[in-house]
Parts: sequence; structure tokens; C-alpha cells
Amino acid sequence: MTGDVTKWVYAFREGSREMRDLLGGKGANVADMTRLGLPVPPGFTLTTAACITYLGEGRVFPPGLGEQIAAHLAALEADAGKRLGDADDPLLVAVRSGARDSMPGMMDTILNLGLNDQSVEGLAATTGNPRFAFDSYRRFIQIYAAVVCGVDKHHFEAALDALKVDRGARLDVDLDADDLRGLTDTFIGIFQQHMGEAFPQDPRLQLDGAIRAVFASWETRRAYDYRRLHGIPHDLGTAVNVQRMVFGNTGDRSGTGVAFTRDNATGEPGRPFGDFLMNAQGEDVVAGIRTPRPLAELADVLPEAFAELMETMGHLERRYRDMQDVEFTIEDGRLYMLQTRNGKRSAFARVRIAVDMVDEGLVTEDEALRDLVVCAQVPQLLLPQLDSEGVTLAGLIPLAHGVNASPGAAVGAIVLTADEAERRGHAGERVILVRDETTPDDLHGMIAAQGIVTARGGKTSHAAVVAVGMGCPAVCGVETLRIDGDLVTIGDTVLAVGDLITIDGTNGAVYAGEAPVTAPDPFNPYLMRILEWADRARVLRVRANADTPDDARRARQFGAEGIGLCRSEHMFFSAERVPLVQAMIMSDDDAERERLLALLRPFQVDDFMGIFREMRGLPVTIRLLDPPLHEFLPSLLDLRLRAAANEREGICDPELDAQRARVTELHEENPMLGTRGVRLGLEFPEIFRMQAGAVMQAAIAVRDETGEAPVVEIMIPLVAYEQELRAAREMVLDEVERVRATSDGAHIEVLVGTMIELPRAALTSGDIAREAEFFSFGTNDLTQTTLGFSRDDAEKGFLGMYLRSNLLPNNPFETLDVDGVGRLIRIAAEGARPVRPGIKLGLCGEHGGDPASIMFCHDMGLDYVSCSPYRVQMARIAAGQAALNGAHGVSPSD
Ligand code: PEP
Ligand code: MG
Repeated sequence: MTGDVTKWVYAFREGSREMRDLLGGKGANVADMTRLGLPVPPGFTLTTAACITYLGEGRVFPPGLGEQIAAHLAALEADAGKRLGDADDPLLVAVRSGARDSMPGMMDTILNLGLNDQSVEGLAATTGNPRFAFDSYRRFIQIYAAVVCGVDKHHFEAALDALKVDRGARLDVDLDADDLRGLTDTFIGIFQQHMGEAFPQDPRLQLDGAIRAVFASWETRRAYDYRRLHGIPHDLGTAVNVQRMVFGNTGDRSGTGVAFTRDNATGEPGRPFGDFLMNAQGEDVVAGIRTPRPLAELADVLPEAFAELMETMGHLERRYRDMQDVEFTIEDGRLYMLQTRNGKRSAFARVRIAVDMVDEGLVTEDEALRDLVVCAQVPQLLLPQLDSEGVTLAGLIPLAHGVNASPGAAVGAIVLTADEAERRGHAGERVILVRDETTPDDLHGMIAAQGIVTARGGKTSHAAVVAVGMGCPAVCGVETLRIDGDLVTIGDTVLAVGDLITIDGTNGAVYAGEAPVTAPDPFNPYLMRILEWADRARVLRVRANADTPDDARRARQFGAEGIGLCRSEHMFFSAERVPLVQAMIMSDDDAERERLLALLRPFQVDDFMGIFREMRGLPVTIRLLDPPLHEFLPSLLDLRLRAAANEREGICDPELDAQRARVTELHEENPMLGTRGVRLGLEFPEIFRMQAGAVMQAAIAVRDETGEAPVVEIMIPLVAYEQELRAAREMVLDEVERVRATSDGAHIEVLVGTMIELPRAALTSGDIAREAEFFSFGTNDLTQTTLGFSRDDAEKGFLGMYLRSNLLPNNPFETLDVDGVGRLIRIAAEGARPVRPGIKLGLCGEHGGDPASIMFCHDMGLDYVSCSPYRVQMARIAAGQAALNGAHGVSPSD
């Protein structure tokens, strides 16, 4: 090969485990196993670069690839002493996909390649086993037709089923050689009928076709979906492994299986487990056509091969220092290893294996934290989960799917209003609140419910944000959900209020009746060990978003180092306060507003005291009132309908007319861009004043009660201009000082800062920093305002389509848009630091609980992230991993 031609193909013995990017996980590991002298059938790997080049250049082989395949094939043939597809004694190969990150079952694999009408006879003759030869050929025709040529595999399955019925055979293995010979003829006929041409007989053409198909399988819908779900980039490509076939279907001393080195559900060590089938090929095990046998039984069937497999698995686990998932084939009693990879496992298994491997001396604590813990799985440890095995055993089928808005499973009776949820919930009943959508008025019902289902809304919809915050499972955006009186239709099923349903917020499914659920342990001892390692490693602090004393207590239990966001408006929404708040907003009389605020103030003082008590010694950031006005107002539509009805019936209701006039006056077409945050505070200064005074009063009271001064931070939301912040800050400080003057409040320090939620604030952060003692990036709004995507509507509309069609790699409301929003954060941080050295910078949008976004925050040198209490443990781990990994390259590109 000349120096200027790219090397697209590597023999297994040329590769190494460090070459995952180029050879894919499977290629790198078979190369490694080959070097270790393990029994791996020989072969070669086409690189991921070959795949990307092939896909990017109109699906033609790049220069040199064809020749390199030919050279490696010739070497493989020389090694085997057989030629691919030879009529007398054929070499057969498997063509397997294998990307850098394992994507089990997502891409294609073709076995038994090289068989044709002649070579099948040769195989039958040399092995003396015509049954095996024709079994292999019929499998090859079917898989080649389906994968390479797109013929529906059901045509072949139907023919196989028909043959079994005809022969009175229950299983494939009950068919004899003649049956299978006849079946290959039938299959070839099916191929001819659908393709209008004969089944390809030239082995080299077969090989090229298979390679093209495996390259192309990188771009199937399911491969895209899988990558999106697991955060795998779309531009990596898959490698292709061409490997000499070994046969698990040559008879009673042959078989094939998959095995894990530890229990992947519980993590229990010393219990390798798996499935195998005798006289079968790989796809029989995974496809579930025949029921596989538990691995332990292999010890009785083929003890020597079993012993060798156990030894090899132990060796591989020690070498890769992670639980391995292997694929093996036994041909006439001889063991072959086809693949090893780090195994997928449950959240419970994951934390246990990480700790056990440290205790076994296989890895250090830092290595275990960095390599063996997947922090996105951590929240699953805290929630009851649907017991998926139990669901399968019970044969339960979901009624519908929606957005998996808040993880965990919940069972309860359908209720349709928040009041009913509260009433029945307080009476000890388990209820699921089912709504078209939820509004802040539903909060009390949401608190009382086990779970929430809505017809509309996505992951950052109000229901979802609140539910995640409460650790309450939720499924949102169930499009087939209809509420009609007391009846609820979900999919095709009509249910009534009081009927039991189960929701799976982890996967977005809704079931009728009670599905089995597993209970969590919030202080899993393995997780506690991992958290110690993470806390030692990390520099980023982790706070919680918490609005109530209960939330605050929970946050502290989970290790929060303060409250980064207390949304003070949540305190306005409880049932007895809403009428006061509404009357206050509706009033156009300043004195009346003051009077109503004075009635609300004791509630606020109480709320803040509860939180300060729980968070003793730790900072608490209280965000002054933020939501759009309309969330406090009666519906204009309702008022109009009632007025129209009055008019029809000649009823005169001046109070209703006045209400309607006021709501019309306050009505905004774009409330999210309207009278919110600091604008509301400047328009109704008495609200911010009341809140600031209540904060200070509560702080003094708690200091007097406990002897320890709360650490108070007051935060002004939705600031665009330095002038807005200055005015609001003066007002707040004025009130703080006024209350301080009424008591010995000298030792209570109050910082006043702002949220950065608007691009203008980020771009002019130097000016803003003059008025702010801290910044907290409100990335929910900053994403909304940077992208111009409505956080309430985008997910249920075009954003869903963008994600489904891979226009965007992930949801920017979940994972920070590093290049856009992230760049604004960097500009804001860089602009503020020279003006106010050491300014405290935090982030409190939903992204504060997202591992990739936490890495970004670490890279930007932020001081803390703040997230839902239920995500605090995960965020501690993500911050620890970020510190161990150093620079991640997640900074916005310049
Ligand atoms: C934000 O905008 O990121 C934020 C935390 O505030 P809210 O979600 O309450 O608007
Ligand atoms: Mg906001």
C-alpha cells in the first residue's frame, strides 16, 4: 500500500483497544482479544472513517477501499486455506457492524456470507452435515434479502412457518436436511419474485453488498433515535467487521450465547449469567424465536467449553476493568469469542459494580467515578420504577405514550381536578391527576397526586418542571387523551374518574389498572460511597431549586449546599392565598393593594422562615415575583362567556363587568414577553417591597430563634437593563434596611443579585454587574429568548419534529445549547468578572440538573449549579466527573 492512500482496513491483529474511534468498540476489542491470544476467529475491520466517507460521498467506496478489502480477504483466505464461497470447501464470513459506542441491535449484521448454490453443496460435503449447510444457506438468503435488498423478512418467516406446519414440526431444529434444502429453493424463489432478479451468487459481490448495507444502517431511523436518546454524535459512523464464520449450528456439540460477567440487574458479583442455545446461530438467541437456556446449564452440557468461557470472562473483566457482555460460539465443542464490550446495566447494578470494583482493587475511586458511573442513571435510584419484567409477564400493553416528562412510576385513581386530587389525596387515596394541561392553580392537586398526565405540554411545560421538582412522575403531551365530562379516553380505551391507571414517567407510557412497581432506597449505600468520591473531586458547588421547607429539607438530605432558586411565586399559588393575590392584582387602587399585600405578608414570612430554618448555615437565594400577570388573573374567555350569558338572560352584574374591564386592560398577547419579573416589580413596587421586607423579617426571626443568621440572597428576575436592576435593587435594599432598623439586624448579610435570562443582560453584563452582587443564569428563559422558542409550546410543536427529524441533536431546553446560549453565558461571565472580581456566578435553569450542561458550567468556572432536589446527587456526581475529566471541549466554539 502506498503512503498517500488512506488505510481503510485493518486486520484484527493490526488493531488495538486504543483504536475505538477508528475501529469501533467491537473492532478494537476483537483486535485486543486477538493480541491476547484468546480464541477469536480471524478477520479484518473497515474503519468508521471509511463509513463516513462512503456515506458523505454519494455512497461510493472511497479510492483504495475495494483493493484493501480484496487484499485482506486474500490474507484471510490464505490463513484459512479456503476461498470465500469456494464450490468445494468454502470460507464463509460474518459481516458485523460496530460503532465506537455500542448500539445494541440498532445496526445490521449478516452471517454465513459466501454461500451460494454451489458452495452450499461443498459445505454439506466437507462437513458431512447437509442439514447444517442448508440451514446456514436459508438463513443467509433471508438476512441478505432483508438487510441488503430490503425484502420484508416476513415473507421468509411465513414460508418457514408453513413448512413447519406441513411437516408437523414444532421447532426449526425439528426440520431435516431435505426440508431445509427445499426451503432454500423457496427462499430463492421469494427473492426472485420481489427483486425481479436471481439471488447473487458471486461471493465478492455479496460481500460488497453486505458492507454497503452495514455502512447504510448507520443512517436508519432507529439508529438515529438511539443515538439521540444516548447522546451519541451522528457523525461518527460505524466500522464493519468481516470475520471468518464459526458455526454454532453444526450439531449437538455446538451452540451460541451471550453472557455478562456479573448480574446486570443487581450488580451482584461472582454470578456470571446469560443465555445460550445449542445447535443455533447468534440471531436465534436475541430474536426470541427459541427460548434460550440459562448459562449455568452449559456447565452440564459442555463442561470444558464452559470452564474456558468462565476463565476468559474473568480475564476480560479484569483487563477492561468493567463488567463485560460477551458473545460466544461453540463449534463442535470448541469455544470462540466473538465480541466483548462493557455491559449495559440497571442503575442499581451500576452503582454496586462501581463500588465492588474499587473494593476488589480493580479500579481506583477516581477511575470508578469517571468510568463506571453514568450520572444520568442516578435519579432512577430515587424513584419507584415500573417493573418492566413484571409488566411483560403480566402482558400489559400501554394505552398510549406521551412525553416522559418526569421519571418514575405511579399508580392511582383518575381524578380530573386539583381540588379533587387534594381531597382524595389527603384522605389517603392514591390519585393520578389527569388534565388537558396544568396551570399554577393546579399545584395543590399536583402535590397531593402520585402522578400527573396531561394531554398537552412537553418537558419544560409547567407540569413537567413542577413534577420533576417534586419528584412526581409525569407523562405530558398524550395526544390521544380526551376528557369529556367524567370520562377519559386514552388511545382507544374509555375510562372513568376513579379508575386505576399506572404511569411510567421514565418512558412516557400510560397503562390501565395497576402495573407492578419497584420501591426505591433514597440512601443506597453504594451511591453514598460514590457521592463521597464525587464530593472530594469536584470544584463546582451544587445547590437546589426549592420553594417550600419540605423541598429544602429534602434538598439538604440529598447534599445540596444551599438553595440557588426559591421561586417565591409558588407561595402565592396555594389555595387560600390565590384569592388575595388575584384581588390584589385586580385592584387599581394603590391603598387597596397595600392592604391585601399586608394580608399576604405573614404567609410569606412564615414560608421564608421555614426555609431558612431548614437551610441553617447555607445560602438561600430568593427570587422575587416573576410569572406573567395572566397566571394570577381569572380567564378572560370565562369572563366573556359569563357576560354574554348574562346579556342573553338580561341579568345585570356590575361586578362581573368591572372584572372583565380590568382583565381586558391587563390582558397581554405575549405574556411571557410582557409584565413579568423586574417589570412587574417596577410597575407594582409594593409587591417587591412586601417580599423584600418579608425576607428580612423572616431572616431576623430565624436568627433570633436559632442564634444563627441565615445567609440571604435576594434575586431580581428578567432584567434587561442596568437601570431596571438599579431601581429594583434600591427599592429592595431600602426595604431591607427599613426592616433591619426595626430590630438588631446588623449581623444579617443580604446580597442582592440578578438572574441573567435575557440576551441583552448577558451582552451588557459589565454594566449589570455594577448593580449585582451575584448572577444566576436562568437558562430556561435565556434559551427561550435566545432561540425565540416558546418554552411552553415549542416541545409539543415544531421542536418535537426537529428532534424526530434530527435537525437538532437534542432538546435545547434539556441540554444547554452551548454554541448559542453557552456563548452568551461566557460573554456574560467574561464581562462581569473584571467589573466585579470574584462575582458569584450560578445557573438555576433546568440545565442545572443535566450532566452535559453541568460539564459546561464546570468549564466556564461557574461557582454552582442549582437543580431540583431529586437531581442534586446526580449533579454532585456530574460535577465530580467534570473535574476528573479536565477540559471537555464543551465550550462554545469561537
Ligand atoms: C429560568 O428562566 O431559567 C428560571 C430558572 O426561571 P423560571 O423557570 O422560573 O422562569
Ligand atoms: Mg426565568
